[in-house]
Amino acid sequence: MKPILSLLKNLCTLTSRFKQKKLSILIYHRVLNEPDFMNPWEVDKRIFSWQMELLAKYFNVLSLDEALQRLENNTLPARSVCITFDDGYADNCENALPILLANNLKATFFIATDFLDGGRMWNDTITETVRNLNEAKLDLTKLGYGIFDIETTEQKSNAASNIISKVKHLSPSERTRHVAYIAEQCDGLPDNLMMTTRQLIKLRDAAMEIGGHTRSHPILASLDIDSASEEIAENKKILETKLNKKIRFFAF
Ligand SMILES: [Zn+2]
Repeated sequence: MKPILSLLKNLCTLTSRFKQKKLSILIYHRVLNEPDFMNPWEVDKRIFSWQMELLAKYFNVLSLDEALQRLENNTLPARSVCITFDDGYADNCENALPILLANNLKATFFIATDFLDGGRMWNDTITETVRNLNEAKLDLTKLGYGIFDIETTEQKSNAASNIISKVKHLSPSERTRHVAYIAEQCDGLPDNLMMTTRQLIKLRDAAMEIGGHTRSHPILASLDIDSASEEIAENKKILETKLNKKIRFFAF
């Protein structure tokens, strides 16, 4: 894999060796149907549409491929921006794609392949469990987390963030065990949050770029080198098989 990008923040700026030319990379995760109290940091369709109109009007939105070449050649135009999405949420295809196409913009979608076709990321399992519970309290003393008030939307949102921050740094096997215990507290978690293979192909057919994002979205630094290589290489292979196309980009 040639250009490896490390996209760590919501907005990351790459500067060429000549300093004066900058490339800004916008990193989205979801484009919601409407504002969601459980995901208050995510944009919805209305805000995304407004942002894309602004980008189209006032910035030079480049494909990642072109931007990297021009960064290398020091021919980046002023106000260069790339649009990227991490993880592979279904709303990228349902909500973001039509808005990108309407504004004639290209984007790159980094996909964690284990969640395609009905999977769910562990943080969403926690978020959706807390959302769905009708009780006033969530008792996680068995996991050593204590008892959370979840009566109001604000309490639910705070509880989910709090639990996610505790679960995040567990070992993968511990995390799986804790998340499974939390998911048992309610029924009917959604299985349509992430993209289907058909939606992935739809993005490719719309001339969007697809990149790798590991198989199961682990914290790579916490894995041994063989597991980390497997996460990256298998993800690339799965995407190439599904898309019949070479995968050239990776984000983590
Ligand atoms: Zn991610």
